Amino acid sequence: MLDKKKIKEKLEAERDTLFGELRDMGKLNTDTGEWEATPEELDFPESDQNDMADRFENFEARSSMIKTLGPRLNNILRAIKGLNRESFGKCDVCKKDIEMARLEANPAARTCKKHLES
Ligand SMILES: [Zn+2]
Repeated sequence: MLDKKKIKEKLEAERDTLFGELRDMGKLNTDTGEWEATPEELDFPESDQNDMADRFENFEARSSMIKTLGPRLNNILRAIKGLNRESFGKCDVCKKDIEMARLEANPAARTCKKHLES
């Protein structure tokens, strides 16, 4: 029997961490459902050229982080929704239970180890 409660707690903790990180770096575009980096607040209007360059690099770094974290968060959210489905924890290919260790490592997993997607 799968310990759904344990998996759910793990997923929710992961979701909160990812959500916090994403919110620090950007905002959710509700039209597309995708996260976008936001430029840093301009707290110092008198900032010189070097500051502007730093800020730009920072923005690039945030954008690429968000491109990594955004889809991961969506994956977690999908997995949380999927927890309520009858088919949760079953392999998409052979319909057998997915190994507990595999689900703990990756709760969004859709296949058992044998049918691990290549
Ligand atoms: Zn399988």
